[in-house]
Amino acid sequence: MAILFILGFWSACIAGLWLWKKELFISTWNEAYFADTPVLIESDDWGPGAEFHADRLQQLLDMLARHRDTAGRNAVLTADMVLAVPDLERIASEGEYRRKMLDADFPAIYQTLKDGIARDILTPQLHGLEHLNGAAFARLYRQDDPRLAAAKATADWWSDWESLDSPLQGHYVDGSALPTSPVDSAEAQNIIELAAASFQRMFGAPSVSTVAPCYLWSDNIEAHWSKQNIIAIQTAGYRCTGRDQSGHYRQDPPIIRVGNKSRFGQTYLVRNVMYEPVDGKNTVASAIAEAEIAYLQAAPISISTHRYNFTRSETECSNAIAGLDRLLSAITNSFPRVRFLSSAELAGTLSDQSLEVINRFNGKRWPALNPARGQRKLGAFLYRLYYRHRKLALIGYMTGLCLPAWIICKTGIKNG
Ligand SMILES: [Zn+2]
Repeated sequence: MAILFILGFWSACIAGLWLWKKELFISTWNEAYFADTPVLIESDDWGPGAEFHADRLQQLLDMLARHRDTAGRNAVLTADMVLAVPDLERIASEGEYRRKMLDADFPAIYQTLKDGIARDILTPQLHGLEHLNGAAFARLYRQDDPRLAAAKATADWWSDWESLDSPLQGHYVDGSALPTSPVDSAEAQNIIELAAASFQRMFGAPSVSTVAPCYLWSDNIEAHWSKQNIIAIQTAGYRCTGRDQSGHYRQDPPIIRVGNKSRFGQTYLVRNVMYEPVDGKNTVASAIAEAEIAYLQAAPISISTHRYNFTRSETECSNAIAGLDRLLSAITNSFPRVRFLSSAELAGTLSDQSLEVINRFNGKRWPALNPARGQRKLGAFLYRLYYRHRKLALIGYMTGLCLPAWIICKTGIKNG
């Protein structure tokens, strides 16, 4: 009798929740769920750098080559490429913005990147033509602005341009004064066209996906990306269109889910595991915990780990590589059916999960990923509701619905 009462109560609760949140439930259910867990390693800011960068990158790639997924593929670094840095000598003599290009001026790191592509350990993705606003940089240079003092005083400053004042690192905005102002449409078109052509020349194939420097971009930038056939945009789960008077990022939209679409039909991807040890904020343990939350939701695991973790002191580099090594071991040992992918490959899979995975930079092909079905999908769906919506989680606890949900989730994982 008591059991019947509880079942009746739960049924009434589910009916009420359905009436209240029907659209949310349907949209969440219609997202992509993976039985084979995609694992991406997204590393921003690779590009022009000192010769020792080539050695550091090689160490990182050699570590990745030791990890294998269930298809036999090694771990793959999605290297988010900056294609140029300021040519300080020419800016000083000519007064206008001038750039040094990755392929022409930095042969050591360029060759290591190309070797990584051939070995299928590295896949390039466009980050930006450069990681700053060229016109603003040249103007501040002419004005002897103190924010460029280090750039003027250090011979190979471009090896650690990440030390530049943060608002100046935006590419599609001018951050020389706050609030930031977006670049005008003609300039956006120029730099995106040049970036697309330069990327194709350097790596032999176009970048069909991208991530904006500092996560700062707008509809206008997406429109210009679209004209260059960029079909996927990597995010940190939100888009920022600028920074306000006090430097805070303006988020629009504030929440992006994997597979959401831009106005131009581009697929958004989302980084959900932070491994930035040089910042001192993330540890291997915190990254493993984030990876597990993604796995429970049958979602891709997208690890963010920037170049500067590997290009500052030797100790920081070896610690960062050792930590990433432990993180990848934990992922491949803890979760069944892991698949290493680049971001562009994940975007292809999201467009059609029956498609085999193709690395367009070296022609290598890998089997299609299996979607999650049945109880595994239902459990992952419930985990997505639980992790994203506090009210629903609270209602689950208050009504006791968390108990059958927990059973579905646990058995779904076991049988998935
Ligand atoms: Zn960056």
